[in-house]
Amino acid sequence: MREQLAILIKLQKTESAAAGIIAKKKDLPVRISRLEEEFKACCEVVEKEREQLEALRKSRREKDIHLQKGQETLKRSRERLFEVKTNKEYQSILKEIETLEEKNSRMEDEIISLLDELDRLETSVKKREEELDAHRLRYGEEKKKMEEELNSLAGELGVCVRKSADLKKGISPEILRKYEQIKNAGRVVAVVSVWKEVCDGCHMSIPPQLYNNLQRSTTLITCPNCNRIIYWERRDG
Ligand SMILES: [Zn+2]
Repeated sequence: MREQLAILIKLQKTESAAAGIIAKKKDLPVRISRLEEEFKACCEVVEKEREQLEALRKSRREKDIHLQKGQETLKRSRERLFEVKTNKEYQSILKEIETLEEKNSRMEDEIISLLDELDRLETSVKKREEELDAHRLRYGEEKKKMEEELNSLAGELGVCVRKSADLKKGISPEILRKYEQIKNAGRVVAVVSVWKEVCDGCHMSIPPQLYNNLQRSTTLITCPNCNRIIYWERRDG
């Protein structure tokens, strides 16, 4: 019985490992796509700021041209001052010059505040691009690692399945049937250890007499509470 139990314990451990691999096979693609989405969102933020920056630069070029034209018009108006013949005409051009000067001054103010904004945005874009570079590197490494892990899982699962089949060959049909029965009843783990009279499957105490029998392990014993196959395992503490 001691030997049968040892194989059962190995079988349980192998099947638990297989269940872990199957869960990982499901989980890894989800984690990979979450990683992809995060990176994509990060790229979009940077792209949006770059577009803002480009729009601002374009606006600055337009305002520069505007100001240049305004200054040329102003220059021509000032030259005309020397050509006028009547006082009325002179006054009218003076008024025109005043209006043009105001307009140009407003444009200069707009350009100055635009330059401040440009400065701020350029710094921000540069910082975000650096962050994105670091993120890209991290993203590439993590994704590669996860994909490699995913690829190796199929092989690992195959090993577990073959090992389980081999182990089952060493277990008597009667005991194996009992094991399958417990599993089919919805228990993920059918073989659990007991230490200090506490079942590791249901965390309930088992009777002292049963605990004594368990330590001798001459028969197959199940937990009176959760019905799992139990074995005695010495632990520290
Ligand atoms: Zn139990």
